[in-house]
Amino acid sequence: MSGSLAVSIPPSARRVLEELGALDSLDAAGLYPNLGNSVIWANEPPRSEMFSNDSKGYHTDLATLEHILLEVAAQAGVIVQHGYSARSAKQTKTGWSVRCEGEEGSRVIESSWVIDASGRHGVIARNEGRKVDRSTTTLAIIRRWRLEGGWPEADRHFTYIESYDTGWAWSVPLGDDLRCYTVMIDQRETEIAGCDLSDILDRELHRTAHLGRSRNGAQPVDEAWACPASLYQATRYARPGLILAGDAGSFIDPLSSFGVKKALSSGWLAGIVANTALIDPDMTEASVNFFDSREKLVYSRYRESSAPFFQSAAQSHGTSYWIERARAAKKAAGVASDSGLPQADIRHQLDLLESNLPETDVRAAFDKIRAKDRLGAVRGATLRIFEGPGVAGHRIVMEKRLASAHWPSGMRYIRGVDLLQLIEAAISHDQVPEGWAAYNASVSAVTLPDYLTALSTAFAAGFLEYDMEAG
Ligand SMILES: Cc1cc2nc3c(=O)[nH]c(=O)nc-3n(C[C@H](O)[C@H](O)[C@H](O)COP(=O)(O)OP(=O)(O)OC[C@H]3O[C@@H](n4cnc5c(N)ncnc54)[C@H](O)[C@@H]3O)c2cc1C
Repeated sequence: MSGSLAVSIPPSARRVLEELGALDSLDAAGLYPNLGNSVIWANEPPRSEMFSNDSKGYHTDLATLEHILLEVAAQAGVIVQHGYSARSAKQTKTGWSVRCEGEEGSRVIESSWVIDASGRHGVIARNEGRKVDRSTTTLAIIRRWRLEGGWPEADRHFTYIESYDTGWAWSVPLGDDLRCYTVMIDQRETEIAGCDLSDILDRELHRTAHLGRSRNGAQPVDEAWACPASLYQATRYARPGLILAGDAGSFIDPLSSFGVKKALSSGWLAGIVANTALIDPDMTEASVNFFDSREKLVYSRYRESSAPFFQSAAQSHGTSYWIERARAAKKAAGVASDSGLPQADIRHQLDLLESNLPETDVRAAFDKIRAKDRLGAVRGATLRIFEGPGVAGHRIVMEKRLASAHWPSGMRYIRGVDLLQLIEAAISHDQVPEGWAAYNASVSAVTLPDYLTALSTAFAAGFLEYDMEAG
């Protein structure tokens, strides 16, 4: 991926960054804060979504991000080989033999496990059967502009996003006076042969109602460039000895602004899977299956969550660009909900890995809890407890998990709260603060918001129900 690609990283990525030990370094690096989004979607009036005051994300370019993360890795003891490019990899009797080339010649690295984290390039992944979504193709055209005096203060820390008839555009700030503008187009819909990329970008930005005009008075600081942004997924994300992490395994629509977070979480779990297999070979099969299921679920869920956006854009713009995307996302969403994939969860609050219950269900459960004088919680009629893989520290272990008719695939931890213990506390205490205090005293200290989220999830998943007398 080109170093000049600017990315928005949402505040929710802070959890995985903290887990990786990289949060302090990112906060100290002086990256441009990401405070929210300014969205014009499907011809709706502009709306601003501001992140909560106590949680900021980042705007940065990938080269800067990579530099910081590599330093964190090196400080943690990772041997970083700069200046080498992996050219080929072949499987041997004991693992892998990876041939690398660099300015100082070539070298071969032997290893029992390989995590391919080489992004879309996918040094090994591309030979492992990646499935490309052929119903849509997306090309990103990118260029940076500088505005003397800077963009208006009100939203200068915001990402701008706008849909238009033949694509969507966004703008990521890298400083008060520097912004990266991108359009996502489909080569099959947009005439690009023989055209200059800067001209195409200008032409597309002129099709937007607002975003293009936000460049008024700004000067380009470099040439426009393009990169592929079409979607793909792996048929299998892990097998003994090999894990495909981040974009090497799958690519989700940049509309989500979750690509970096997804890659960080996936890399983190890949490390845990390899570590487990190395110290506990009996857990290898369960661990790679866990990783594979989790990556499949993540990809499907992202497709599912993008479906309503594409649908509203299709209704509003009525062009094949959007109609095709809405159709493809809906198809993928159908697969997601029918797949019955095991649910991965994690005790370290990596929300990406936690409950993938629809947020609206959890919120509705929360509203109901708040409306009650006494909780009156009882065990869900279909609650069952079974043994399944989960993450404990830096290992995958077999542990007790909770499932129900509504959530058959099972989960255990939400926001670091152990649901198994929570249901006991909730059943024994009719006042939520008392249940929270009892949980804190007998299990571990968790915040009230985290306890409430876990409690709401337990009701939404059907692990808890209300007794008949509860008012
Ligand atoms: C136009 C566009 C906009 C995006 N905007 C956002 C956004 O706003 N927010 C967001 O979160 N995500 C965004 N994404 C997605 C995000 O960039 C990726 O999901 C994320 O960077 C994936 O990280 P990765 O480490 O898996 O892969 P990459 O970031 O692609 O990193 C792969 C690394 O592997 C190296 N590499 C490749 N081949 C080799 C080789 N042969 N040998 C050695 N090293 C190799 C590369 O040099 C690179 O350092 C966007 C993507 C696109 C295309």
